[in-house]
Amino acid sequence: MAGIVVVFDFDKTIIDVDSDNWVVDELGVTDLFNQLLPTMPWNSLMDRMMKELHARGETIEEMEEVLKRVPVHPRIVQAIKSAHALGCDLRVVSDANVFFIETILKHLGIRDCFSEINTNPCYVDEEGRLHILPYVDFETSPHGCNLCPPNMCKSMIIERIQATMAKEGKKRMIYLGDGIGDFCPSLKLGEGDFVMPRKDYPAWNLMNENRTLLKAAVHEWTDGEELEHILLQLINTITVEESQMLSVECKFQTMSKAAHEALRPRALPVPY
Ligand SMILES: [Mg+2]
Ligand SMILES: [Zn+2]
Repeated sequence: MAGIVVVFDFDKTIIDVDSDNWVVDELGVTDLFNQLLPTMPWNSLMDRMMKELHARGETIEEMEEVLKRVPVHPRIVQAIKSAHALGCDLRVVSDANVFFIETILKHLGIRDCFSEINTNPCYVDEEGRLHILPYVDFETSPHGCNLCPPNMCKSMIIERIQATMAKEGKKRMIYLGDGIGDFCPSLKLGEGDFVMPRKDYPAWNLMNENRTLLKAAVHEWTDGEELEHILLQLINTITVEESQMLSVECKFQTMSKAAHEALRPRALPVPY
């Protein structure tokens, strides 16, 4: 156990598209979505779209079927299974919602690889309509970060995870993401951590423009194969480093014990 926490963004990181756009496009409400987008925050708009879909007679089951068809690179599923098998603590931090993420991860058979899903909550009401709520109630308690959308600043979540890591004896974090919202939390990573932005996506662009602000080492990836290769390589590097550090500590302890023994005044053998 290397004590590694791996944090995954969801949209365009675990899955190849944006789950919100996927559902909106597949269920034929793209025009209304585009028309309303300038008038309200994305998260509120998604809730509005759920209301629209319900009014048009779309059921939760139909939405589940659409979500199960979402494009996913098979090597990413394998990378997640491997990282979990190697003892890493995997978590999702996403601006999608619990229903979309849980449905897709369960369908892919990898829900149980994750110890935590941090995202916008939702519930299905008695009429079978899905309600999507903001992760942060921006009316009563705004997060105050002007880099991030009003409903979620991923840095808040990363800082909470970092606070618990120390207590659980976990030391290193690897963060994977693609979007503008993944830049803010990347700034919270420390030396010894790694950030894996998807190449040519907004987070990658922002990191390139602001290299000096980042303490973590940056390793870009383009597709599922590269993600798998780099992630497993980083996990291996950390594991080797941590075990070397552990063996140095052990040697040091053994040495100091030997030195201590050598200096200890010997008791004279007492003849019977
Ligand atoms: Mg994303
Ligand atoms: Zn932020």
